[in-house]
Amino acid sequence: MSTHSLLHEPLAIDAQYGLVIHRNFIPLFANDAYAHCFGYNTGQEILALPSLLSLIAQHEQDTAKTAYQRVMTGLDQPGVRTFENLNKDGELITVLTVDSVVDWQGEPAMQIIVVDLSRQIAMQRQLLASEQRYRELVDGSIQGMLVHKDFQPLFCNQAYANMYGFTDANALLAQPSILPFINTQFHVQAWQDNQALLAGQVAVIKTEAKGLRADTSVLWLSLLSRPVDWNGERAVQVTAMDITEQHELREQLEYRANFDGLTNVYNRRALSEHLQLQLKSAITRRRPLSCLLIDIDNFKAINDSFGHHAGDVVLQHFAKGCQQLTRQHDLLGRWGGEEFVLVLPGTALQQAQHIAERLCCAMASMAVPVGTQSITFTVSIGVAALSPAIQSIEQLVGSADVALYDAKHRGKGQVVVAEVTAPCLY
Ligand code: GH3
Ligand code: MG
Ligand code: MG
Repeated sequence: MSTHSLLHEPLAIDAQYGLVIHRNFIPLFANDAYAHCFGYNTGQEILALPSLLSLIAQHEQDTAKTAYQRVMTGLDQPGVRTFENLNKDGELITVLTVDSVVDWQGEPAMQIIVVDLSRQIAMQRQLLASEQRYRELVDGSIQGMLVHKDFQPLFCNQAYANMYGFTDANALLAQPSILPFINTQFHVQAWQDNQALLAGQVAVIKTEAKGLRADTSVLWLSLLSRPVDWNGERAVQVTAMDITEQHELREQLEYRANFDGLTNVYNRRALSEHLQLQLKSAITRRRPLSCLLIDIDNFKAINDSFGHHAGDVVLQHFAKGCQQLTRQHDLLGRWGGEEFVLVLPGTALQQAQHIAERLCCAMASMAVPVGTQSITFTVSIGVAALSPAIQSIEQLVGSADVALYDAKHRGKGQVVVAEVTAPCLY
């Protein structure tokens, strides 16, 4: 559309919108559309009115008169205003008016274009009412509910705000984004899910995610997300259940299933699983792998002399000391009683022997305080490594066990390396 053609636009407005021309509220011209705004049939009926003031709500009449005076005397520029007017049946209607001063039969007069906003306002009220109903429905829910647009919160209920440690929903809604309340580990997944929901690729996504409360404490949520239409925009609605307690319980159970309760190192089952994986990986990647079987010497005598509790403390100190002396990716597990297995990935037999000797020395010089007493102990260690002849857990641990038995026979407190029948090629 060219700028020039814009000049003809009032004609179109004239046809579509109400148009009235008046001088001091005495109607000079009115079209039918203007009449329809006020419940009349024709512009002629408006011209029959003695004053347009009868169409303006009582409380707005003074404003209208002042505005008229100021515009006509040049004090104010003609402008756009909203007024509450009365229709023929005395009902309030809200109109938008666009004033301008025009020439009418040689004298200035006020031309007003009127747009009836009542329908839009009624729709807005309806929307607010439905939003209110929605709010009442979800506010009573113990499930958290959030609506967000690319993580900017648009709506949330009290339960959702409480889950995140906010006292009320508005405090959470004031946040520009909910992403800081999602653990960074889950951000990529959250973005991908968001995209898929907004693009309509999936109807619903069920996930679990780690969140951070306002006080930075951790919470776990079970989430159900689906796309929703929010005031004409596509957004995502999330229903959330706080599963922090269940999650912690599950973690505790998993921990108990995998770790020894006394020493907090892997139990035999978990260590076997890890060793199996390490073994497979070492064979395929042709990498060395060694295993130490460590047994505390004369442990029965420690129990007998100092009591069972003292024995427990020695076991704990041994495990801790062993972990401190080994690398992060070495795996320590309690094989049974006072017997431990240490798996050394990427470590060849000779290097494993050095590590075993270092451990043997360190344990011999360790003093475990129990009450007023101090307990010293020694360990015997059997060392074995992956080789063409040793390719399974049973063979590896069995071979270390033979070496350990040898170490005990040779007088304890020492390291014995398993006999190598076929040299390891890697
Ligand atoms: P060796 O030098 O030949 O290994 O002799 P040892 O006394 O260490 O071995 P033995 O197998 O004769 O005794 C091991 C003892 O370890 C017997 C058992 O009561 C004790 N034991 C096993 N588990 C625990 C535990 O969890 N706590 C305590 N305090 N003692 C345990
Ligand atoms: Mg022993
Ligand atoms: Mg033993």
